[in-house]
Amino acid sequence: MAALDLARLITAAADTIAAHAEELTTLDQAIGDGDHGLNMKRGFEAVRADTVAFSTKSLPEALKAIGTKLVMTVGGASGPLFGTLFLALGKEISAEPDRANLTAAFGKAIEAVAARGKSQVGQKTMLDVLQPVHEALAEGKTAAEIADMADRAADATVPMKALRGRASFLGDRSIGHMDAGGRSVALLVRTIGETLEGQP
Ligand code: ADP
Ligand code: MG
Repeated sequence: MAALDLARLITAAADTIAAHAEELTTLDQAIGDGDHGLNMKRGFEAVRADTVAFSTKSLPEALKAIGTKLVMTVGGASGPLFGTLFLALGKEISAEPDRANLTAAFGKAIEAVAARGKSQVGQKTMLDVLQPVHEALAEGKTAAEIADMADRAADATVPMKALRGRASFLGDRSIGHMDAGGRSVALLVRTIGETLEGQP
């Protein structure tokens, strides 16, 4: 893996969330309460505000601190879940991870999200994007391939019926719309991959 520039990663992630906040809100308006874009933007702007503090920590400590910040600031159902993802990743990852360690740590982080959300793949949540990303990591795919996989996985939530979160209250009416949290994951995965590879 390329040398980690955490400050660049944080900036890129916060920029992407800010640029797509309206889109995320529109997705959540269709089958939720329309706050997902605002929630994510609030959380990632709070992370951005502490960039210096995070980027001077080791990778595991930085990820744990970012997770804690996201839990405190994102709110909604997704805040504790995205927070758990980063917290658990920080607990499992090494200071200078290779692909095998990253893959294992990401797998554990997904398990932590599923436990926290009492959810599993196939229920039209962020897990439906996280899981294929984990598989692509395990298969040794490139960052661009993983990002494309994440986009396809987010698209694949459209025909699903929501069984967790607010969208599940709609039953069959949740069918035909993309899961907002899944879209957020796909956006973050592409941004992180491109930043790690030093691409524009
Ligand atoms: P809220 O639903 O409280 O308004 P957000 O709108 O910020 O929170 O986030 C909604 C997203 O959170 C959903 O699109 C879905 O991806 C994710 N989500 C909600 N509940 C769960 C759950 N139990 N397990 C996994 N993901 C969930
Ligand atoms: Mg919402």
